[in-house]
Amino acid sequence: MENSPTRIFPPAPAPKPDEEESLDVWGFRDTHFEILNNGSVRLTGSRYSLCGQELPSLLPWVSEVMKVPVRADDVHPPAYPTPIPEALAHPQFLAELRKIFAEDQLSQDPKVRLRHGHGHTQEEMFAIKYGKIGRIPDLVVFPTEEGQVAALVEAALRYEACLIPFGGGTSVTEALRCPENEARFIVSVDMRRMNRILWIDPVN
Ligand SMILES: Cc1cc2nc3c(=O)[nH]c(=O)nc-3n(C[C@H](O)[C@H](O)[C@H](O)COP(=O)(O)OP(=O)(O)OC[C@H]3O[C@@H](n4cnc5c(N)ncnc54)[C@H](O)[C@@H]3O)c2cc1C
Repeated sequence: MENSPTRIFPPAPAPKPDEEESLDVWGFRDTHFEILNNGSVRLTGSRYSLCGQELPSLLPWVSEVMKVPVRADDVHPPAYPTPIPEALAHPQFLAELRKIFAEDQLSQDPKVRLRHGHGHTQEEMFAIKYGKIGRIPDLVVFPTEEGQVAALVEAALRYEACLIPFGGGTSVTEALRCPENEARFIVSVDMRRMNRILWIDPVN
């Protein structure tokens, strides 16, 4: 079946902008509920058929079900991002990684490191807005091919660094959390640029 003549080789998908995902709440940046002056609620953006429609009954319904008054001005403003821990230094390991990866495949940007240090549990989403997340990766890498991943694993072994794979970052099992007392250099390996389907065999 390996050489099936019907095999389809889809083209590589066009790169998608990273800024689609909201950093401090679950979902897209352009989509959220807003409360209008008349007390109605409206979903922003254009991704869903509900977007743009006024929902006058939503707030009264929430108030009734929860038995508490819900007011538009009664908010707890978020403080995202709360203090982000400094990255550990590991210059020899970084120099080695610069031989494997292009500069745009390595990031020590504090917000990028923070985003790779948590999933989407309620506790984590609360912590990044009102508390502190604790230990986060020291570096984020974005491999684009298998050879880079193999070279990264080999370098991490030699320089005693930890690797944590990262997919969409939506885990609700704290699977992306770094151990609080981890003294080794932690690298988050963001797999999102390896998003190509190599082939599909429609018969199978
Ligand atoms: C609102 C909401 C609704 C959800 N609903 C569902 C649901 O209906 N059903 C469901 O199953 N889950 C659900 N989830 C949970 C979550 O979306 C799933 O667990 C999802 O599969 C995690 O995938 P991810 O790519 O985001 O993994 P991540 O969160 O990035 O990683 C999760 C774990 O997998 C590891 N990992 C990631 N990529 C790789 C890789 N390439 N190789 C090896 N290890 C890797 C990470 O190191 C980490 O330990 C929901 C989450 C949210 C926030």
